[in-house]
Parts: sequence; C-alpha cells; structure tokens
Amino acid sequence: MHRLLCLLLLLNSSFAAADALSLKQTCVKYLQSYKSYFKDENLEKVCSEVKVNDGCQSADGEPIFHSDFSGKAEGAKKILVMSLIHGDEKQAGELGRFWLERLHKLDPRNSWRIIPIANPDGVKNTTRTNANGVDLNRNFPTVDWSTDAVKYWEKDTRKSPRKFPGYSPGGEPETKCFVKHIEEYKPDFVISIHTPLNVLDFDGPKLKTKPKYEYIPWKSLGNFPGSLGRYLWVERSTPVLTTELKNSLPINEKPFEQLQDLIGTLVKTDLK
Ligand SMILES: [Zn+2]
Repeated sequence: MHRLLCLLLLLNSSFAAADALSLKQTCVKYLQSYKSYFKDENLEKVCSEVKVNDGCQSADGEPIFHSDFSGKAEGAKKILVMSLIHGDEKQAGELGRFWLERLHKLDPRNSWRIIPIANPDGVKNTTRTNANGVDLNRNFPTVDWSTDAVKYWEKDTRKSPRKFPGYSPGGEPETKCFVKHIEEYKPDFVISIHTPLNVLDFDGPKLKTKPKYEYIPWKSLGNFPGSLGRYLWVERSTPVLTTELKNSLPINEKPFEQLQDLIGTLVKTDLK
C-alpha cells in the first residue's frame, strides 16, 4: 500500500513537471514572435515563471498564462495588465512582452500582474476575436449586456463580425478567466493594450493634470456594452487605461519605459 502511494505521488509530480515544461514551451512559442528590447534576452527564464489560473483556457484550449511581480514600496498598489485581448494587434504584444521582461529586471514600486497573451486563439489565427468569433472586449458581463450588447452590435457596428459581443454576458472562457483574475487579484488599476488608434483612453476619476506623455496623446473614446471600461470603471470604480498604440513601433524602448513609469507614479501617488 505504501509503495503504491509513493508511486502515485511520483507519477503525480512527474505529471506536474511535464505540465510546467509544456507551459514554458507554450509561453516561449507565443512570446518569441514579438520583438525583445533586451540584449540579454532570456525568454526561457521569463517563461519558466509564468502560471495559469484554474479555468484560464481559451475556447481552443490554449492556456492564458500570467506572471506576478510584488511591489517593494510602502503602500504599493496592484496593477493588472492585459495585452492582446484582440489577437491581431501585434504591437500590443511587443509592449506586453517588454513590460513583462522589464519587470524581471526591476524591483518595482507597485505590484504588477501581466497577462501578455490574453487571447491566444486570436493570436494563433491572427484575428481580433477568439476561436468562437467573439470580440472579448464586448463580452464582459456588464449590467446592460443582455439588453444592449447585441442591439448595439446590430445597429452601431452594422453587425461587424469583428465586434460580435457573443452569446451570453461573460460567456466566453477567456472572459470568465479575466473576470476571475479581477475578482481574485483585486487590482487598483487595469491597463488593456491595443492598437492602432494612438490614444491613451482613460476611464477613471478626473485627474487634476494628465501626466505628460509625448509619444501618445490622451483622448477619451467612451465605453460600450460589454467593454472592459464599462465593466470596471462605470460599474466597479476600478480605473482602466486603454493604451492604443500606433501601428508602428517607437525607434527605441524609451516611450515604453516612460509609459510604465508614469502609470506607476499615477497609481501610487495621484489615485490614492
Ligand atoms: Zn483592440
């Protein structure tokens, strides 16, 4: 009996080791298609530390992995970053990867959780939507989803297949995963990275002055039934910065560094 138990434990731990190896390989496979800004690139190391929450699998069964970094400063806030909720917005992946790699080299002031590949099916298929053809940024279970999301899609987007809100509020596996992250991690601030509109679209409290940022102008775009901004800021008072990059990359990493640092300062000092 004792031997059998040992064998089972051994098998269990070797399955866990195999799972960890395959998760690392999946992470490398996805992230290596985005540019690294670091000379001493160490994707293997970055990917050996990613985790997957229970239930965080895409419609096609791909893992939605994340990494956590703990803030060292007193009164550290929690910042959740999601890039590539729209899978075909390549530059969003470059910034997600850059922040993820940079956090491995810093002692951050705030705590950060990065989900670099929020929509792995969209990335795999080069589509905005997930494998079920749903725009995940219209599928968050906002209060008005059941009455307005499909109506809005039919009327305002003329049934654009790129903006289909789905079949039920929060019904997609990816959206369930994001909602669980939000409920468990309880972020003070959320950043969703997109392209190509070239604006910093802030849903949050009125700021006395917007932090100066030369690379992208601040401009509010509003929010929609089923969008992250409406779900988090309008309904839960958690500020969201939708970072819309251009369709080209900056000549060096400075604008990406500055944006991360100014958000860190904004969250830590201005949003108390
Ligand atoms: Zn987008």
